[in-house]
Amino acid sequence: MGDMFSDLEQMGFANIAIDDDALFGSDKPAANKSSAQAKEQDEKSDQEYEQEALFDKKYECPLCDAKFSQKAVRTGKTRLVSTDTDLHHKFKYFDPIKYDIIACPKCGYAAMGQKSFDSISSLQRKLLKEQVQASFKGLPAVGELFTYDDAIVRYKLALYSCIVKKSKNSERAYLCLKIAWLYRDKKEDMPETEENYDEKQKKCEEEEKSYLQKAYNGFGAAVQAEMFPICGMDEMTFNYLYADLARRSGDIDMARKMLGTILISKTATAALKEKARVIKDLL
Ligand SMILES: [Zn+2]
Repeated sequence: MGDMFSDLEQMGFANIAIDDDALFGSDKPAANKSSAQAKEQDEKSDQEYEQEALFDKKYECPLCDAKFSQKAVRTGKTRLVSTDTDLHHKFKYFDPIKYDIIACPKCGYAAMGQKSFDSISSLQRKLLKEQVQASFKGLPAVGELFTYDDAIVRYKLALYSCIVKKSKNSERAYLCLKIAWLYRDKKEDMPETEENYDEKQKKCEEEEKSYLQKAYNGFGAAVQAEMFPICGMDEMTFNYLYADLARRSGDIDMARKMLGTILISKTATAALKEKARVIKDLL
């Protein structure tokens, strides 16, 4: 960083000590206090960012009427860094998808997002009471921040509620996809000093693969019976995701077929076609 200007040495500018942070000026005068604050911000750990991004959101359970609060992520507090070929967003500091499941601590009913959590029919209520509430013994204890394992447990609880509720296949497939992403992130986030590192890495890899396969199967079933948009995706975005899941599941013929629909489509955007070409090169 400090040698950003080393090219200028030949012109007589030796040892210019300017790094990326100092490259652009601030509108405000650089008073001592603000630079001290900036320094403090630089030294914040990922955990501190995560803590500050969270707040206690209040919910009311539509199944057992319990009032409870749960950690949720404030809007505008995440920083997107990159997106994987299967549409998984990677964020700086922490992974907000850990907090996407609403789980009632009293009856065990769980769902992804407020809309899905709130909407239960009388038949679904009956099924959930019999098959979730009746057996539920409480959520596992968690710390201030969710670990990947805390999140994965909640996603699996939501997946179970979805199956009991007889929710759409797309909803179940999307939960499986996000569980796969959590295993991927858990693997990438694991420090090498972790006990049984190699074994745990292998386990995460296997779980990720298994949940991607489930998501692929689930979206395959969904597209036979559901109308677009599916999980908020239009047909071309869906085909793109489905192509990548096919690729990751080893179904190369299906991946090619789906990519073909995008590349010849009149409605697919240029950006999506470009992304489809990237996957085609990976086949
Ligand atoms: Zn409840």
